[in-house]
Amino acid sequence: MRRRKTVSVDADILVIGGGMGGCGATYESRYWGRDLKIVCVEKANIERSGAVAQGLYAINCYMGMHWNENQPEDHVRYARNDLMGLVREDLGYDIARHVDATVHKFEEWGLPIMRDPETGRYQREGKWQIMIHGESYKPIVAEAARKAASEIYNRIMVTHLLMDEARPNRVAGAVGFNVRTGEFYVFRAKAVIVAAGGASHIFKPRAVGEGMGRTWYAPWSSASAYALPILAGAKMTQMENRIVLTRFKDGYGPVGAYFLHLKTYTQNAYGQDYEAFWRDSIEKMVGDYVNHHPVPTCLRNHALLEEVKAGRGPIRMVTKEAFQDPHKETVGWENFLGMTIGQAVVWASQNIDPKEINPELTTSEPYVMGSHATCSGAWASGPEDCAPADYQWGYNRMMTVEGLFGAGDAIGGSAHKFSSGSFTEGRIAGKAAVRYVNEIGREPPAVSEADCEELKTIVYKPLENYRIGRNEIVAGTVSPSYLLPLHGLQRLEKIMDEYVGGISAYYTTNEPLLTRGLELLGMLKEDLAHLGSEDLHQLQRAWELHHRVLASECVTQHTLFRTETRWPGYYYRADHPKLDDQDWHCFTLSRYDRHSGKWAMEKAPVYHIID
Ligand SMILES: Cc1cc2nc3c(=O)[nH]c(=O)nc-3n(C[C@H](O)[C@H](O)[C@H](O)COP(=O)(O)OP(=O)(O)OC[C@H]3O[C@@H](n4cnc5c(N)ncnc54)[C@H](O)[C@@H]3O)c2cc1C
Repeated sequence: MRRRKTVSVDADILVIGGGMGGCGATYESRYWGRDLKIVCVEKANIERSGAVAQGLYAINCYMGMHWNENQPEDHVRYARNDLMGLVREDLGYDIARHVDATVHKFEEWGLPIMRDPETGRYQREGKWQIMIHGESYKPIVAEAARKAASEIYNRIMVTHLLMDEARPNRVAGAVGFNVRTGEFYVFRAKAVIVAAGGASHIFKPRAVGEGMGRTWYAPWSSASAYALPILAGAKMTQMENRIVLTRFKDGYGPVGAYFLHLKTYTQNAYGQDYEAFWRDSIEKMVGDYVNHHPVPTCLRNHALLEEVKAGRGPIRMVTKEAFQDPHKETVGWENFLGMTIGQAVVWASQNIDPKEINPELTTSEPYVMGSHATCSGAWASGPEDCAPADYQWGYNRMMTVEGLFGAGDAIGGSAHKFSSGSFTEGRIAGKAAVRYVNEIGREPPAVSEADCEELKTIVYKPLENYRIGRNEIVAGTVSPSYLLPLHGLQRLEKIMDEYVGGISAYYTTNEPLLTRGLELLGMLKEDLAHLGSEDLHQLQRAWELHHRVLASECVTQHTLFRTETRWPGYYYRADHPKLDDQDWHCFTLSRYDRHSGKWAMEKAPVYHIID
């Protein structure tokens, strides 16, 4: 086997992932840790990486406290309602009270934020959203991180975390490989902040084959934010709380601005309003939650799904009226040009002019994330001034592994952070990690040479498998001895789709399906030892698949554990079709033992600290 160079990097704080959370963590770590070595490692290039890579049209989390528009408590109430009662209110409150300061920094750094010409305030799109000229959002944020970091390592895919030899539950750094040069990297660090984004492509997407890159959540969000902590033994929470989005069909163009700004509305194929029709049946499933305002996102999905199942699809967004106003027409198109250009292209290619035709809506395949409208992720310690004792075991945003912090999609329990909240949570984690390093984490952790060598062999194994196995076939891609990452991905997506509640099952599952799904995932996990990668690009795909499979197993375990249908419209436990506040007004927690491969599940209390 070809010897690959090992590059060793020592740091005080290592930030994994240079997206919104990672840039926030890097920026703030420097502010509090002037003399510390702060290193950020990113598998793409932080200039244009992460879910915000292509720019955004709105910042979805801004209180407007200095104009007395909203207070942090209001945001906690909003998120709690949308998540059917279950959020970590301490974490949400902590972000909400700091998020305005983050947005003001963005503006100071050059992000153009639209202003209301009459009031001079930021232009609101909805109660929480403000509108931006956001094509360069990510480069602006990345510049702040670049200036703050001691070193940024782009193009390095982190595959594993390292653990301290002396203290088994303390993180010690991470390893990965450069996706361009193939060099192996060993990062030793006193504290690690994981901010590696959410997970797409664990469930089969609606668009397959050539179109499989066309998903709502970024296709490169490959579940590392979950797999890395899971393998290190960190507890995870709410992993069953996958998200399903109602979006414009085939392009996944966002609908928020259409509802909020253009005041468009939906109707079924026969021009009828259908949401009201389903209200009573939803009330039987979930009780009073359906009467809350705004109606929780999952329940609105549910009404759409039921309407389609009843044979009255497709559901359409009524754009014909709003688009008669030339200003609204421009806003409607620009909304896509800011972040989902593909939707405009899809409409053009399908002869859809929204002034003439009401475009179809559909629901996406499920994704796993902690920063948008759902809250999957790691179980984290809360802020010391407001987290209940059960939620405090160390530093703010520290996971249940010592020295391991997280932000954005990586941290569970606190939804509706979005881009600004993820950056803010990165700042909170960065500040806490500096304190940890200065107080109890001063000594560098002990990293075993042997462990690193073993990981190096494991990381490059798919290249080795391919090098040997390719001689067994003369043509084609199917080999008797190795599995290509794409084939493994398609197998994973099929299992999750059919057994864990994907699109083809109308998001429905039950105990027998989940149990069988776990068996099949177990077999897939065994086969991952035989992944074959023809080049470094495919090696990255192989490790992304490893991460996706582990996160999927976690999602399946959580879905099995929670014996209720908490969020109809996101998924259904057909054997427990109702919301059950008596037994399940709680968080679900899991912990994976990497030595035995076993999962331990438990419940954790939900404390309502805001009235
Ligand atoms: C389609 C879409 C529309 C959205 N619209 C809005 C909106 O209008 N307004 C708004 O405020 N928010 C919006 N959001 C939400 C916002 O983008 C996310 O909340 C935010 O980006 C999450 O931050 P993060 O740091 O957790 O993840 P990301 O920003 O995705 O960053 C994760 C980073 O980790 C890197 N990474 C992943 N794995 C590894 C690995 N193994 N090794 C090294 N690096 C790795 C990735 O390359 C990436 O740079 C939207 C998201 C999507 C997908």
